[in-house]
Amino acid sequence: MKIVVVGTGYVGLVTGTCFAESGNSVTCVDIDPQKIQSLKRGEVPIFEPGLAELVGRNIAANRLSFTTDINEVVPQAEFIFLAVGTPPRSDGTADLTSLWTVAEQLAPVLPHDAVVVVKSTVPVGTNSKLAVRLQELLGRECDVASNPEFLKEGAALEDFTKPDRVVVGVRRAEVGEKLKSLYLPYLRTENPFLIMSPESAEMTKYVANAFLATKISFINEVANLSEQLGADISDVRRGIGHDARIGFQFLFPGVGYGGSCFPKDVRALASLARQHDTPTPILDAVDRVNLRQKEIIFDKIRQHFGKNLSEITIAVWGLAFKPRTDDIREAPALGLIDRLLDAGVQVCVHDPVAMDNVKKSYADKLTYTESPLETLRNVDGLAVMTEWGEFLHPDFVQMKQSMRQPVVFDGRNIYDPAVMKHHGFAYYSIGRAPVQDGRTGHDNSTPDPG
Ligand code: NAD
Repeated sequence: MKIVVVGTGYVGLVTGTCFAESGNSVTCVDIDPQKIQSLKRGEVPIFEPGLAELVGRNIAANRLSFTTDINEVVPQAEFIFLAVGTPPRSDGTADLTSLWTVAEQLAPVLPHDAVVVVKSTVPVGTNSKLAVRLQELLGRECDVASNPEFLKEGAALEDFTKPDRVVVGVRRAEVGEKLKSLYLPYLRTENPFLIMSPESAEMTKYVANAFLATKISFINEVANLSEQLGADISDVRRGIGHDARIGFQFLFPGVGYGGSCFPKDVRALASLARQHDTPTPILDAVDRVNLRQKEIIFDKIRQHFGKNLSEITIAVWGLAFKPRTDDIREAPALGLIDRLLDAGVQVCVHDPVAMDNVKKSYADKLTYTESPLETLRNVDGLAVMTEWGEFLHPDFVQMKQSMRQPVVFDGRNIYDPAVMKHHGFAYYSIGRAPVQDGRTGHDNSTPDPG
């Protein structure tokens, strides 16, 4: 099948490449000429495990190409996937400017039987409005379908090729069948292909993200309470997670959720609810709790070092909003860095793949280091903000020798307080008793392994 994907970011590039991999002829379109130039050379501008190899293979097989010229490629297309960004406006609503721009560009060249598929996350009702707008421009009806994307950055190829489910929202059953045949290579494990109305499909995407964000804010809220009450959230998590109705997924306490989806989608859904005079106090609280949680490591640093932080240096491990991606949109690490810089702290940072993105906005305000250990030279404390694999088992002896003061603020609970105590660190984590000067704050801590 001939496919055009408009918007070649995290979602568009993965979508286009995976459809090419299953034998389709795919052209990815973007307005960013630099991005398209590098993709034409087989250079992938984002970090996503396995993607560069797949892009290279499909370019070589002539199944995948790139262009900035939408007019050139749409006339031959059977499906046009829209995967442009839908960023948040300051009032929380989704900014659909790119989507409407593409609609205007598409109309003059849209083939008669092509299906326009909205993959971007858009407010409920957008597919309908798009169908109406295209009809105005074309002077005839055209098929518009919703096909929200559920991939996770860092595991995007796996998620796309082995989806838990594929959701499509259509007005006509034939359109659902056409889309099903396109997705068939990825439905071989009997994962469901769910056909519903465009409104339900649009809503499904927001509700999925809002629910996952709710779990994160919930566990963070009770983690903070556990810490105050002398309970250990890791034990509490084990205690609840074995209940099959609760489970363990997305119940990791930490420094709050970030990324390009959860914060914006929770706010967009809440804004949509306000527009329809329907209160959503849970959604509002999820966002508020998350914003508060993003401050937690800075608060712990201030509690440890006192109000005047201008003499200290802090190392930050992990800049991306989560491991296995270079995406720094709304990353908790950046909020911490801003706070530290405002307080006059010197900041050294390390991230395996996201440093170039951070350099674009922070330039020489930060010291960038090539290895985690190098970051620790003469620092007064370390903040762990992303749980990259390479941070999980560091050499604590070398770490302690490098640091001016052995203080670790673990925003992801990746270390064992007993081990940190054994190595003589002051250690602060989320929802667990602090280890101060080799002593635990509560006397009900886990036993010392040493
Ligand atoms: P992105 O910012 O990485 O990519 C968007 C791309 O669209 C950019 O390359 C941009 O240059 C391009 N673009 C903007 N206007 C354009 C135009 N008029 N014509 C052609 N290209 C244009 O965004 P993303 O992370 O890929 O997200 C895209 C959509 O998918 C959003 O609605 C997002 O909410 C949703 N989504 C994202 C994820 C994710 O993990 N990133 C997951 C599921 C859904």
